Amino acid sequence: MLQIKDISKQYKTGHLVQKALDHVSLNLRDNEFVAILGPSGSGKTTLLNIIGGLDRYDSGDLIINGISTKHYKDRDWDSYRNHTIGFVFQSYNLISHQTVLANVELALTISGIPRRERRKRAQEALEKVGLGDQAHKKPSQMSGGQMQRVAIARALVNDPDILLADEPTGALDSETSVQVMDLLKEVARDRLVVMVTHNPELAEQYATRIVNLKDGVIRSDSDPYEVEETEEPVHRNMGRSSMSFLTALSLSFNNLCTKLARTILVAFAGSIGIIGIALILSLSNGVNKYIKDTEEETLLGYPVQITSTSFDLTSMMTQNVEPDTRKEDEVSDDVTERAFINRMLSRTKANDLASLKTYLETESNIYDYASAVEYTYSVTPHIYRLDGNKYHQVNPDNSFAAMGFGGNSTSTMFSAAMSTDNFYALPKEEKLYVDKYDIKAGRWPENSRELVLVLYPDSSISDFLLYTLGIRDSAELDQMIKDFMNEVPVHADPSAEHYPYDRFLGISFKLVNSAKYYRYDPEFEIWVDKSDDEAYMRNLVRDGEDLTIVGVAVQKEDTDVSVLMPGIYYPYDMVAHVTEVAARSDITKEQLASSTVNVFTGRDFTNSPSLISAVCLR
Ligand code: ADP
Ligand code: MG
Repeated sequence: MLQIKDISKQYKTGHLVQKALDHVSLNLRDNEFVAILGPSGSGKTTLLNIIGGLDRYDSGDLIINGISTKHYKDRDWDSYRNHTIGFVFQSYNLISHQTVLANVELALTISGIPRRERRKRAQEALEKVGLGDQAHKKPSQMSGGQMQRVAIARALVNDPDILLADEPTGALDSETSVQVMDLLKEVARDRLVVMVTHNPELAEQYATRIVNLKDGVIRSDSDPYEVEETEEPVHRNMGRSSMSFLTALSLSFNNLCTKLARTILVAFAGSIGIIGIALILSLSNGVNKYIKDTEEETLLGYPVQITSTSFDLTSMMTQNVEPDTRKEDEVSDDVTERAFINRMLSRTKANDLASLKTYLETESNIYDYASAVEYTYSVTPHIYRLDGNKYHQVNPDNSFAAMGFGGNSTSTMFSAAMSTDNFYALPKEEKLYVDKYDIKAGRWPENSRELVLVLYPDSSISDFLLYTLGIRDSAELDQMIKDFMNEVPVHADPSAEHYPYDRFLGISFKLVNSAKYYRYDPEFEIWVDKSDDEAYMRNLVRDGEDLTIVGVAVQKEDTDVSVLMPGIYYPYDMVAHVTEVAARSDITKEQLASSTVNVFTGRDFTNSPSLISAVCLR
């Protein structure tokens, strides 16, 4: 049972205050077909959105099965929307370049259900709405009535208790409207359906109950449901346990803690994934605050990135998997080639970032839409930890190099995904992160010699980061990896320690100018790599610049998407600093002065095999 109790809602735009709902009370049975009728602007959509948790009420209470939602947090609403509610809109909101099946499946994609199961459920939902044989069509190949049935299948695929439909037949002719209404009536046999319409005939004919709304007030109700007030509604939060698309994202992606996932998501989120879903909801609901927050948080955590080379990862993931010369069910007795590499590489593009930057800074109005625009070079600071006489390189991280991970500081998309680095640059704009994190000890960095440690949202820290910090002995990690590689049983110590927040303050590292790895050999007139020479490296590290952790930060409770993944952050300015230092070094100057001769070999670049290492220095 759903109780709308004395709910009011106002919209303020500038000086104008618009009363959308004015002390509305309405009890809905678990199983009925309610039509909400009323002229345009009477508050129908607002009421539906409040019932569905897409919009928040100003006063009153929405009581779901005896539980008050007054103290609900965003993640409770997410959970409610995801498990209890299905939405159908007037404008269908299907994704046009995806098949009907994929559109229905999308609703399940983020809830972590395996693909085969998703397919099966989506197919079943389509059969329920009589479109079982149309699964592979694109929406554009269907009629309006069929598209609306697809939208209903999408709303039902999660088997929600409540289906909300906002003028579902508003864009359909009367004949097709009847088909859709028949379907909704069928759907209403075992759940609550609330439908907004301004067609009284359809409401009369199909609904079991008609509620009339005008100027935000209920004027009539054909079948009121009086509920005896026995006890006060209980306050209970639905909590984290249930998945919402935002929490599902932050759970699976943060907890797996792989940058591969993050990298893919950057491409994924920008195309159909989460932004697509947010758009589906926002299109027919106006820009309400929920959508705005969702998009803002999502884009902060997974910003749109434009790199100097790029390729369309999404289309690679979604389309290249199938050999497209063969139809899905076609049986053939020969072998079909799948053009993975060819297609991937042919889709790689070089982007003219200099022109883009000029455009963004002069003609475009990007700042009306973006919270921030940042430009950066992919420079990796070389950072070491010094323990007495011993030094360990901690960035770029090489711990897992023997296993084929990390150890490579060039930052192409793939190596970034495989990297195990724990050090990251903070965004340039403080406003992107400062008020989303609590400082548990110390403060934010104030210059490029200061670092901040970011923990997991529950104030935990990975053992791997403890090795980096030198709190756990990295010899232990090296031994475990060695044992693992040699197929010797690994002696692990999974004991979980606890640390006070200020335990991490003052831990320091050394920033090394990587141009100094090379020393000029006057005899052969070339630069020699000394990074294998322990004594040389020890001195180099000792002479490095000090970097010190000055703060420990934890994401605030009510932010859903992490802008900063757990790790050690250096200020944005450090990238410029490292670049400048490298540019001032003799080896760089010499290489720039003689663009044809490789300073590592003294030979011409064209005959030289070590072009790559010269490029790395830049
Ligand atoms: P209906 O769906 O019955 O046409 P709505 O619920 O959309 O009515 O709107 C009720 C009133 O609230 C209208 O006067 C409308 O202009 C106003 N309203 C709705 N949404 C917003 C919004 N996001 N911002 C400002 N005013 C709004
Ligand atoms: Mg409306």
